[in-house]
Amino acid sequence: MPSIDRTRLKALLAQESDRFVAEHPRSRELFERAKASLHDGVPMNWMVCWAGDFPLFVREAAGAHITDVDGHRYLDLCLGDTGAMTGHAPPAAVEAIVAQARRGITFMLPIEDAVWVSEELSRRFGLPYWQMALSATDANRFAIRLARQITGRRLILVFNGCYHGTVDEAYITLRGGVPVSRRGNIGPPADPTTTTRVVEFNGLPSLEAALAPGDVACVLAEPVMTNVGIVYPDPGYLQSLRELTRRSGTLLILDETHTLCAGPGGCTRAYGLQPDMLTLGKAIASGVPAGLYGFTAEVAGRIRACTDPEYAGVGGIGGTLAGNALSLAAMRATLQHVLTQEAFERTIPLADRLVEGVKGVIAEKGLPWHVAQIGCRSEYRFRPAPPRNGAEAAAAADPELNRYMHLATLNRGILMTPFHNMALISPATTAADVDEHTRVFREIVEALVGA
Ligand code: PMP
Repeated sequence: MPSIDRTRLKALLAQESDRFVAEHPRSRELFERAKASLHDGVPMNWMVCWAGDFPLFVREAAGAHITDVDGHRYLDLCLGDTGAMTGHAPPAAVEAIVAQARRGITFMLPIEDAVWVSEELSRRFGLPYWQMALSATDANRFAIRLARQITGRRLILVFNGCYHGTVDEAYITLRGGVPVSRRGNIGPPADPTTTTRVVEFNGLPSLEAALAPGDVACVLAEPVMTNVGIVYPDPGYLQSLRELTRRSGTLLILDETHTLCAGPGGCTRAYGLQPDMLTLGKAIASGVPAGLYGFTAEVAGRIRACTDPEYAGVGGIGGTLAGNALSLAAMRATLQHVLTQEAFERTIPLADRLVEGVKGVIAEKGLPWHVAQIGCRSEYRFRPAPPRNGAEAAAAADPELNRYMHLATLNRGILMTPFHNMALISPATTAADVDEHTRVFREIVEALVGA
């Protein structure tokens, strides 16, 4: 089994960095200019997390491709870290967005599309009631607040290595098995160890022990973890999670923001799960800001029984622009025409093809790496088998190797998601695009370990 020659890796990384700088003068110029008016030269802090010395500035994007300001055209497998899982500017959504913009953007009044969207979501996810928010983060925040309110419990539980947006309670991690505030947590309003229990995914005894006192309002979880790379649930684990939460009177909130990639009804439908609440965001409106949370009739009844509509405006759940007409029109078009059953019937087999391609190269080179997949989302990782929890996943991190793979891929015309080695297939991605990724993957792996 070849091991990575670190000296060679460093030299290749330096070459790729030089190439990146040389080939992107216009992006560099804009970045330098931006530093005078944008903190760190970017409109949002994550945008400095790309592998090059500066981010690409985008000129335009359509379908599976992005063109930068230097005129390079990229196959985009990052797709806005899932926000553009629909492909960029899908024509049916753009048409609906433009038409709605002409008819008005925000009213603090509903439009008919709200009803269509909630009916469609009920059909897909099996939950009868829905509310809109502006982001997946907000959907999670509101779901947690409601869970606390209706259970009268203060604590929540999350899994080590999770990410659910900028949700204060979820900024907790296990370090050496001990719960602590997540590294880099900026100005937390409270020490998250006082608001949250955290356990490893796939560990039933610790989950059972954490829920046993009956003081946890809700578990907030992705059905398959995606934010420490993909971590699959063990067979039967999600069923046990459901049983244990029911037994302890804890609500189960499934965050399907990323796992919508599993199919039109996310993992909830694909695996027949029964959450009390479910949250969505990112791609659900083809990139127009939108979040959603759904819940059961039982939860709806409990909400009604312990919230006062007279104080709805100051209850801690809101967002003046939430449920705005533009987001609703975009959601409707996305659900009706873009992220359809037929679309997943095309994208998932293409993800299978990408996985086969990457697996083939890994096997041929005898590398101790593996590839994981959820529907149209896939990811390679530098360890021989999938991790079973956040600690195992974190232990396999290799930032230097990651950076090389990302930058070398980018320099050859393909964008991968910065935070992990995730490749997402949109309805606009083709078999030729996938095969080009396999070709590039082979080329950059051969540069590293030899042909
Ligand atoms: N849930 C999950 C699973 C996520 O990965 C993210 C963001 N990566 C969010 C929620 C929050 O999404 P947003 O930042 O768009 O609010």
